[in-house]
Amino acid sequence: SGPLDKEQMQGLRGVREFLKVRTSYDVLPLSFRLVVLDNNLLIKKSLNILIQNGIVSAPLWDSQNSAFAGLLTSTDFINVIQYYCQFPDEIAHIDQFRLSSLRDIERAIGVLPLETVSVHPMRPLYEACRRMLKTRARRIPLVDRDDETGREMVVSVITQYRILKFIAVNNEQYTMLLKKPVQELGLGTYTDLATATMGSSVLDVIHLMVKYNISAVPIIDKDNKVLNLFEAVDVIPCIKGGAYDELSATVGEALSRRAEEFGGIYTCNEDDRLDAIFDTIRKSRVHRLIVVDDDNRLKGIISLSDILKYVLLYGEEDDDIRGN
Ligand code: ADP
Repeated sequence: SGPLDKEQMQGLRGVREFLKVRTSYDVLPLSFRLVVLDNNLLIKKSLNILIQNGIVSAPLWDSQNSAFAGLLTSTDFINVIQYYCQFPDEIAHIDQFRLSSLRDIERAIGVLPLETVSVHPMRPLYEACRRMLKTRARRIPLVDRDDETGREMVVSVITQYRILKFIAVNNEQYTMLLKKPVQELGLGTYTDLATATMGSSVLDVIHLMVKYNISAVPIIDKDNKVLNLFEAVDVIPCIKGGAYDELSATVGEALSRRAEEFGGIYTCNEDDRLDAIFDTIRKSRVHRLIVVDDDNRLKGIISLSDILKYVLLYGEEDDDIRGN
């Protein structure tokens, strides 16, 4: 191993130390707003609330038992869509489903419920990261306990994006040491990529996301050039108002309905170095990077979990999570 490898390890070690001395609480901004949804709410209404608030996920609250009841995410809506596909005659019922029936929907379509993991906000951030990688959760709720009542309290939710942003903003001296190109690191996925075209139906793309267990599908043209990206969160506006029959619309139509504040998609080159990727994360709202060649042809995809996994686990002795 050459001097580059040595520097790379030095950078990784610096970031890992940082994650061990900071807590999840440190990632939170000084003031923030948290939308918590009552488990008794109609699924249909929850969609409107998410859209109105410009968010894609929210913790659920079981007010009967005064307890945290899991996270509502785009995966839940994708589950409802699968349910609709399997039981199209149930559409009248689907409209009446409450958030508390999401577990029944999982059972009905035969998917395993996502493990509801949470972390205490004052535990080291490193722990939250490990837990996210282990469960494949893209976001993790910070749950505390009220001293007086002994009840659970959801403080906030942190995402992979927020954690990587926090690393990027506070560790420039370490991330600048990460000079190896992504290709050499094997960072991301380059074979068996799930893709779709502008003419594919939204439903086809949703089925791809379910089959591959991924949260985004690059949209390419006949020459394999990248035109756009359909993300799991793009499903939310598609079914607003219970418009399940509109899922047969094309990806092109669905993407034209994206919110104004859509941040755009980010691409990188196989020769780009990890330090450059951290620069992008520092400056922009990146949720994944599409790897393209000089002609904008699709080569691969780097998810935030790929980056987090590498940063936490590369070269570690007990890398029991790698390869999962
Ligand atoms: P995240 O967990 O950060 O949301 P994904 O669920 O999209 O990311 O990705 C999970 C894994 O699947 C990653 O290793 C990523 O490289 C890979 N992946 C992501 N998108 C695709 C795709 N369209 N085709 C094949 N593999 C993908």
